[in-house]
Amino acid sequence: MRQDIRALQAGATALGFSAGPEDGLWGPRTEAGMLALLAAHEGRWGDAVEQMHQAIIDLGYLSAGPVSRVWTPELDRGLRALVEADGMPRAGAIVEDVTVSPGWGGWVSHEKQVLQGSAGYLVSMFVLHTTATSATWWKGKSNQQMFEEVRSWHLANGWRDIGYHGLIFPDGEVIEGRAWSEIGAHVIGHNAGSLGYSMVPVKTVTHMGAAEDFYTAATLEAIRGVIAKACNATQIRRIAGHNEFANKLCPGFKVEDSAWAPTGWAA
Ligand SMILES: [Zn+2]
Repeated sequence: MRQDIRALQAGATALGFSAGPEDGLWGPRTEAGMLALLAAHEGRWGDAVEQMHQAIIDLGYLSAGPVSRVWTPELDRGLRALVEADGMPRAGAIVEDVTVSPGWGGWVSHEKQVLQGSAGYLVSMFVLHTTATSATWWKGKSNQQMFEEVRSWHLANGWRDIGYHGLIFPDGEVIEGRAWSEIGAHVIGHNAGSLGYSMVPVKTVTHMGAAEDFYTAATLEAIRGVIAKACNATQIRRIAGHNEFANKLCPGFKVEDSAWAPTGWAA
């Protein structure tokens, strides 16, 4: 069962194409549904298209970026390539299969869960980010002003909202971004099923260091609080830094989930 395939099946079904049961397995019926969708030219728009676009990105057949609400020639190309590959992720794609880090017990309750997007991805990972702003960018600005500035950068990318689920400021205030039930835009290949919070540094992140090198104690305490809240609300199995998924410094340090999980959570 693969979440990305399930998202494609659910999307095609919502658009009125029969793609077999939403079982996350690629088979003849799924393929037939995708081919029918590719052959059609009307009625292909809305949330279902966004969901399918994201799944095609996650499978590695389109580059990450804002997802489209209307079917485009780019989506035709991506889905056709996926059909030709029998639904297999493209080599090099980061497949939505969150690994459990050694020593981290994870959350095993099935009662507490946050699901994201119309495909209902289980939120199971928390990703730490930096706003990658300079040592002085935050000075003289209110937190709300900073939030709006970051949001405007993301809107300029063509995104529908800020990509993060929240921003954390030097004074420890947290301003929430996207709802937890919405898929964010913060870590290519791992947006579905994750939460992304970004911290405003008070020293420019120019190298891999320790968290304390770049962020205030108030910021670090606040992110621990958000992580604890997330662990309490859903089955968080991994706490990671953006730099584990991309060739970036973000957030400027190596994130060991045992160091960020709430007390008593590490096995
Ligand atoms: Zn990042």
